[in-house]
Amino acid sequence: MNSPDSSIRVKRIFDKALELGLRGVAITDHNEFTVANSPFSEVLAIPGMEICIEELHADIIALGIKKAVKPELSLKEALREIRRQGGVVIVPHPFSSSHNYPSLGEKLFEVADLVDAVDITSPQAHVNNRKARSAAESLRLAKTGSSDAHREQDIGRAVTVIQRPVNSINELLDRIRARETKAKLLKQINL
Ligand SMILES: [Zn+2]
Repeated sequence: MNSPDSSIRVKRIFDKALELGLRGVAITDHNEFTVANSPFSEVLAIPGMEICIEELHADIIALGIKKAVKPELSLKEALREIRRQGGVVIVPHPFSSSHNYPSLGEKLFEVADLVDAVDITSPQAHVNNRKARSAAESLRLAKTGSSDAHREQDIGRAVTVIQRPVNSINELLDRIRARETKAKLLKQINL
């Protein structure tokens, strides 16, 4: 999965995904819902967005939703809305030591029953991925990897691996809900 919020053109993202053998791509721009059309039957286009919850200045990622989720909702309202739409919630970069970074932080522990997964592969140097991993494990949440690619060369930097074959968005969402995912870092970069 990838989450570019940048100028990378969508067609190039799918070209690169196919070249790398990725089976799905999520484009999760900030506060903008994207339903891309995959040009390749091998690569699923996963509808998604990254929502920056205004009250907390915290990012959450929704996959498999049907329409945009408003950033002015409270955290719990937004998480429930994602569930109501049949989507899954992934918390990206939950623990950051930078005050400027939109992180959920310790709130993750309060809302974990409304969360499905934690992304543990942030390329940001100020993000504590080890703490994210151990939180996911203690809360029994799925662990996911994503490139958080803002540049084309970073697509596929980190990926989410699922052992069983996945042939649809719904199967993918079910595998995340069943915690059947592994995060894999393929290339180290520090931003
Ligand atoms: Zn983010």
